[in-house]
Amino acid sequence: MENKRAGGILYLVVPCYNEEEVLPHTAEVMRDKLRRMTIQNIISVKSKIIFVNDGSSDKTWKIISDLCRCDSIFSGLCFSRNYGHQSAILAGMMAAREHADMVVTIDADLQQDIEALDKFVKCYQEGCEIVYGVRNDRDTDGLFKKLSANMFYKFMHLLGCNVMSNHADYRLLSKRALDALAEYREVNLFLRGLIPTMGFQSDVVYFDVKKREAGQSKYTLRKMMTLATNGITSMSTRPIQIITVLGFLVSLFSFAMIIYCIVDWFSGRNVPGYTTSLVVSLLMGGLTIFSLGIVGEYIGKIYLETKARPRYIIESIIWKEAETNKQEEK
Ligand code: UDP
Ligand code: MG
Repeated sequence: MENKRAGGILYLVVPCYNEEEVLPHTAEVMRDKLRRMTIQNIISVKSKIIFVNDGSSDKTWKIISDLCRCDSIFSGLCFSRNYGHQSAILAGMMAAREHADMVVTIDADLQQDIEALDKFVKCYQEGCEIVYGVRNDRDTDGLFKKLSANMFYKFMHLLGCNVMSNHADYRLLSKRALDALAEYREVNLFLRGLIPTMGFQSDVVYFDVKKREAGQSKYTLRKMMTLATNGITSMSTRPIQIITVLGFLVSLFSFAMIIYCIVDWFSGRNVPGYTTSLVVSLLMGGLTIFSLGIVGEYIGKIYLETKARPRYIIESIIWKEAETNKQEEK
């Protein structure tokens, strides 16, 4: 296919939360990759790497600031506190939108094979607006993460959500796709579900997942749970429909039981009492609280959405145009 979009400006967006151990190496590897791609004329010399410091408590921002000072290929955004991975990649993408032809989001720990970048860019150059990175396997994940991720994706598919299994947030968006994404104002972000709803011509790139280069996973169980509930509540209202169906079925059953008990009573038989009543009231109590919890979860999300608080606050920005740009722009 003809490369109508050869040599576009690529911005790499890298969310960083307490990544001091891995960041210097990551920066080196990413810069090296971008330089090689530039020399091969795959991307423009104006391409850059944007680090988004998501309220780290370690030396992450200091490292980013030093990197930006030494080389104008790097830029940095610093959040006022920890807003989470999804907000960090959104902020990076929105900042890059005005300057880049395409943006690729990639984790700071080098788990996602950076050599796959060529394939992402090739898809873009062939006309794709969105390119999804999908892991070849989950061998580097622990058993719990593997099982919970599998269950989550199965559940999402059951709810009818268009979420690609094993798609990490390693993804390319063209300028056009970024402009479309900027129109979405939702506070509860689940980009893996949101972006596929935008449509556009897209493709998939499969990549190998490596072990974390240094440091530990920043996705605590709590963060994983929050992402999963955000994913479910922002993508589907089917859980509420399931409650309605469940309530209807339980009502049918209760109605049948009432008739059965009345007939029993009129026929002079003793209705077996204590155990049945206990089981029924415990079951109903459990179901009611569970259903209320699900409905409450949605109400909570409505509450947060109506307040429409900012999805992140950027405290500082280090944004330099690359030296090469200046020469080019003369
Ligand atoms: N991250 C972030 N904010 C957070 C948690 C994580 O920006 O609150 C970043 C983190 O620095 C990394 C990426 O999100 O670049 C993915 O996190 P991690 O590698 O720890 O997740 P895992 O690979 O274990 O799922
Ligand atoms: Mg990781």
